[in-house]
Amino acid sequence: MPSLDEFAKDKLAALEGAQLRRSLADTLRAEGIWAVRNGRRLLSFSCNDYLGLTQHPELKAAAIDAIQRHGVGAGASRLVTGNHPLYAELETRLARLKGTEAACVFGSGYLANAGIAPALAGSGDLILIDELAHSSLWAGARLSRAEVRTFRHNDAGHAETLLKEHRAQHPRVLIVTEGVFSMDGDRAPLKELALLAKRHDAWLIADDAHDLDLSDGAADVPLRVGTLSKTLGAYGGYIAASKAVIDLIRNRARTLVYSTGLPPATLASSIAALDLIEREPHLLAQPLAKARSFTRATDLPEAQSAIVPIVIGSAQAALDASRMLEDEGFLVVAIRPPTVPDGTARLRLAFSALHPDAEVARLAGVVRGRILVKR
Ligand SMILES: *Cc1c(COP(=O)(O)O)cnc(C)c1O
Repeated sequence: MPSLDEFAKDKLAALEGAQLRRSLADTLRAEGIWAVRNGRRLLSFSCNDYLGLTQHPELKAAAIDAIQRHGVGAGASRLVTGNHPLYAELETRLARLKGTEAACVFGSGYLANAGIAPALAGSGDLILIDELAHSSLWAGARLSRAEVRTFRHNDAGHAETLLKEHRAQHPRVLIVTEGVFSMDGDRAPLKELALLAKRHDAWLIADDAHDLDLSDGAADVPLRVGTLSKTLGAYGGYIAASKAVIDLIRNRARTLVYSTGLPPATLASSIAALDLIEREPHLLAQPLAKARSFTRATDLPEAQSAIVPIVIGSAQAALDASRMLEDEGFLVVAIRPPTVPDGTARLRLAFSALHPDAEVARLAGVVRGRILVKR
């Protein structure tokens, strides 16, 4: 056997042995928050489609219209010929929503995070990053060549200790965290981190991919990352910041400069999503309300966001719990290492405005009676 295939097979066998091998499951997402797998219709609690906009007729119509007018692909990087005029409209609206001077749209949230830190920090600089930060934030930190140090999850005191110890040795310091943590659903202490950043002349980045409070300006965070692919139901990522910072990012972020622009249809459906949310802002409160009714019914700690983790422990036990819920008609994918730390495999529930209350109550009953009793 060629050594390359041998290498791949050995690695896969090791993953299999640890119940960590993953495979792609065909999934159709037809209407609402239902998904079809293996011919069965399941109510999904594993989509980040918080408002159900991926299937919304207005977003579909906007995309179809844009395809008819502008075609399917951007043809080149934004800096060459791929900068369709819809970008300017979308970026102006995103900046207004986030309360910043400007915004820049990337090909995805992952690409935004992989490109931003290297555009702002380099060799000799320091990046302080929350230990549970998303893989894409880690990618950006590592690509920057700055020195990377982790602070304990949501522990601003620990971040401060690190700043006191190391700030003086570095010309520039970035502090990197998530507004709402994608696998735990808890919120970062953004106000404390913003104060720390100010006191020590560091620059704070918050990744708001899962934050439904789209215009949360409570904390003074100069760099706010977001995605168009979760609450907004489309695809792409963005950063909102001052005009100077956005201009620099447009010049220096390699994941923007060297990657093809988004299809115009994607930009058009993102704009349609913003229209819809502006018209019906009350929708944004519903996923959290459903998550809270679930945590109340199960006696779990009160949900801080639309994401509720149920930590199980071993990968096998998490897979078993997921399979049991599938038998009950619920799609709740097991989340295993390395997405979460070793020994904390879990079920991760993402609540959507479209979840029927009766089904949320039924899920709570099954989780309480058949999963929580075993913990
Ligand atoms: C999903 C996610 C991303 C990546 O966004 P995409 O647009 O899906 O690439 C980045 N950060 C966090 C915290 C996420 O949950």
